[in-house]
Amino acid sequence: MEKLKQSLFNILFYIVVIALIIITGTLVFFAVLKLNVYAAEEHPEKSMCIVIDAGHGGEDGGAQSADGVAEKGINLNIARYTRDFLVLSGYEVKMTREDDTPMGDTSLPTLAERRRSDFAERLKLFNSDNTDIAISIHQNKFTEPQYSGAQVFYSPNNAESGKLAECIRSSVTGLIQPQNKRQNKESGSEIYLLYNCKKPCVLVECGFLSNPDEAALLNTEEYQKQLAFAICCAVLDYTGGGRAPAGNYAVVHNKTEIS
Ligand SMILES: [Zn+2]
Repeated sequence: MEKLKQSLFNILFYIVVIALIIITGTLVFFAVLKLNVYAAEEHPEKSMCIVIDAGHGGEDGGAQSADGVAEKGINLNIARYTRDFLVLSGYEVKMTREDDTPMGDTSLPTLAERRRSDFAERLKLFNSDNTDIAISIHQNKFTEPQYSGAQVFYSPNNAESGKLAECIRSSVTGLIQPQNKRQNKESGSEIYLLYNCKKPCVLVECGFLSNPDEAALLNTEEYQKQLAFAICCAVLDYTGGGRAPAGNYAVVHNKTEIS
């Protein structure tokens, strides 16, 4: 009898111990879960989203140098290098185009309609809720060949755009174009994307294709990377730094052929 009592007591004891372990474990699990939710609310892990727009594309080559190099290819290369630097700095990057294909509906019957559709799609991405900054990459052209150097245009409809433009001007001139004295310029309605963008938004004319020396420079991988690096530094300056990359990111150097 005494033995049976002892056995029953032992069984009861183990049941109580196991129940206590389960209850404690459950409480700790939910406490940790709650803490994590709280931490996520307090410190959202979302990276800032930068839209990089490689100007022109497809049948729209943009400006052209005297020896026939089209703006669209240089824009795309600089845009891709900028994307790579920004992603490595912890930003989320969205591109308006990753290759020689414009964003709009290419099946539309007239060139004017196709271009309107392209601009509308790019603007949609510029103004999307997720976008924090939009940067459009272009090359300049003028009737006289002597002009050179980058110039940054900013949106008149977003007060922050001028500050972003100044960060880019200062970075580009400080790092690679010390002789460049060009001032930033507010865009008019003729620069559709800037004029209609509600987010901090700039258009960077990286240099002049009408200047043979600068056109040759703009067509080199090294200079394109320098420009991309300067733009990335400006974004870091403007935003106060990116975030650590969320995962492994392999930078793909799939250089586009310049046509
Ligand atoms: Zn252009």
